[in-house]
Formats: sequence, C-alpha cells, structure tokens
Amino acid sequence: MAMATDYFTDGKSNTQIYENFPTKVSMSTFSQGSYDPATIWDEFNNMNIAPTDSAAAGTAMSTGEKTYDAAIGVDIEEQDMTHICESFESLGRSTGVVSTVEFSHATPASFVAHDVNRNNFAAIANEMIYQSSVDVIIGCGNPEYDNNGNGASMNTKYVGGATTWADLSDGSVTGADANGDGVADDWSVIQSKSDFEALTTGQTIGIPEVYTTLQQARSGDGQADAYEVALNDNLPDLTTMSKVALNVLDNNDEGFLLMIEGGAIDWAGHANQSGRLIEEQEDFNTAVEAVCDWVEQNSSWSETMLVVTGDHKTGYLTGTAGVYDGLVNNGAGIMPTMAWNSGNHTNQLIPFFAKGDGAQIFKKLADQVDPLRGNYLDNTEIVTAIEALIF
Ligand SMILES: [Zn+2]
Repeated sequence: MAMATDYFTDGKSNTQIYENFPTKVSMSTFSQGSYDPATIWDEFNNMNIAPTDSAAAGTAMSTGEKTYDAAIGVDIEEQDMTHICESFESLGRSTGVVSTVEFSHATPASFVAHDVNRNNFAAIANEMIYQSSVDVIIGCGNPEYDNNGNGASMNTKYVGGATTWADLSDGSVTGADANGDGVADDWSVIQSKSDFEALTTGQTIGIPEVYTTLQQARSGDGQADAYEVALNDNLPDLTTMSKVALNVLDNNDEGFLLMIEGGAIDWAGHANQSGRLIEEQEDFNTAVEAVCDWVEQNSSWSETMLVVTGDHKTGYLTGTAGVYDGLVNNGAGIMPTMAWNSGNHTNQLIPFFAKGDGAQIFKKLADQVDPLRGNYLDNTEIVTAIEALIF
C-alpha cells in the first residue's frame, strides 16, 4: 500500500521517511490462527486463511496478548486485560489515541477500552470518555454531519449515544481523572477545522465535522484515480489531528504514549479503491513526517521512540490478479498497475519500522525468519519491547 503511494507521488519506491528508519523488519498479525513461513507460500490463497480483525490485532499491540476477533482489550475468556496506555498512566505519563475513522472504532478502542464486542460502539465510546484516564481522544463519528461534511442527523452510537452527545456538544464534559491528581477532569471538546488548527493544551476530545471518516467515504466515484474527486474541505487532516494530540501530551514532563492510526487505509482496501487508498496512505505518510519533525524540534531521537506499522494487510494487493508479484510503477502522477485479490484482510506479514531510543530492541525480537520477507516479530512483541524499555 505504501508502495502504490510511493509510485504515485514520487515515481519510485522507498521514498517515505519511515522506509529509511534504522530498524526495518516484518511483523505477523494473526489472532487465533497462525503464520507458518514453511507452508504459507505454497499456495496463493494461503494468505486468505484466518486473517486477524482490527480488534484482536489492536488488542495484541496494546496488551501483548492474542485474543479472539472482535475483542476490545479482553482475553479469550472475555476478561479485561491491562493496556499499555493504562501502564503508562499508572506511571504518571500521558496517553492518547488519534484515528481518521471513528474514535470508538476497533483500533483506538482497543488501546483504551474493554468490551467483549467491537460493535458495542456506544458503550466503548462512553468508557473512553467517562472512565478511561487517557488525555486525548481524536477521531470521527460526529452525528451532526454526513460523510461529505454536510449538516445531517446521524446515529449517535459512535460518540456514546444521544445523552453523551448532548453532554459533549456544548464543548465540555467531565470525564475521569486524566492527570492523576485524584480529581475528575473536564474534557475540552473540539469539532471545527479552525478549532483543530488552533491546537489545544488541556485534556481534549476532538470530533471533526464528518460522520464515519475524514475523506474515504465521501461521495463521487470511489474507483476514480487519486485526488480526481475533490476532497472534503471543512476537515482537519491526520497531520493536524496528530499535532493537536502532541500539543496536549507534551505538557507532561514524564512522557507519553500516542497511537495514531490512518484507519481509512483499511477501508479503502476493503472497498478495493486504488485511488482512495493512495490518498489515505499519503495522509498517513505526511502525518509520520510531522511526528518526526515534532521529535526533532521538541524532543530528540535519544529520548523518543517511533514505531510505524499496521494492524494487518487488507485487499491482498499485487500487480497481477492471482499472482504474487509487485505493483507496476507507471511514473509519478499516474496510477500504478494494481490488482486486488480480496475484499478482506489477509494473513500476510506487514512492514514494521522503528527509530529512536530503544528501537534496536525490535531487531532482537524479530528472531523468526520468513523465506521471502526475512526477519519478523509478532504483534504481541511491541508491548514486550515497550515494557522492557520502560519498566
Ligand atoms: Zn479492516
């Protein structure tokens, strides 16, 4: 997916900032299945067997434990597990989540909430808002706008239901104790593009003025080339949302953990939308550049670690249908030749990049070897690494 975007934006591969990070390995993502490098390449369709969903993958990355698909921060017995965010909070550090899809969707939810089913959006949103100790939550789900950012009256489930939305929409809501001083804290709630661009500093919930995702679900031909259909223009991009989160979190001298998701990359993959996939990946890539700039200007690579990876692959993208080959580069500004082989996730290894303080630990953890992809770690080992570095 990154390669399609590299070809379209630059006319060559490996042009993104993270593709030049010092730690570059691969990562397995299965939930209750497995990844067997000795047999998986035997048949093209083996990659379609037992892929993870985003809830189990997110939970694996936030707790270090495999669980069942649809599980949000709970184990296979449906018992709550401790997230790495909760561990950070218990050390007096700050935490946050940002996504281009609903903030109560599987990935941000799986770093903050605990629920037996990812589809319990309202309960998940309410846990995130009223019970969690995170300091910043940013994502879509705004029930007063449609997917084009036009005024509408949509379901309030993604933001916790009608009562919670009434509570949120006046600009302030009392949550749990986010800063650890024993007193419940008020969240500032921001919605407009200008509110995002102004940045904020206190505990913040950001819900941009769009329903399910910033751009990928907008009207117009979903199969059009990248950027052929005008983008929604009343919304922040992932870079701006990430800057808001960093501006909130960096007020804590003890440090922080921030999870930033380009969630609609997956949605474009499910819909086999080559153009919108490139748009979403470029939005993500630009956000990574902004985070790197933040590290260099406000911190340093000797005290901050950045991991860039995914939760799973989606759409089984190759150059030729049914063949495990590469995309064809047709030059900058021209769509590469892309064949989609699935509308679902796959069990393929995914790229994993890391840079900064402690990032070399991932090279040690990537002690399994795939005949084509080389060394890889498992998604449960991200927490192993962070715990080794922090505790
Ligand atoms: Zn998906």
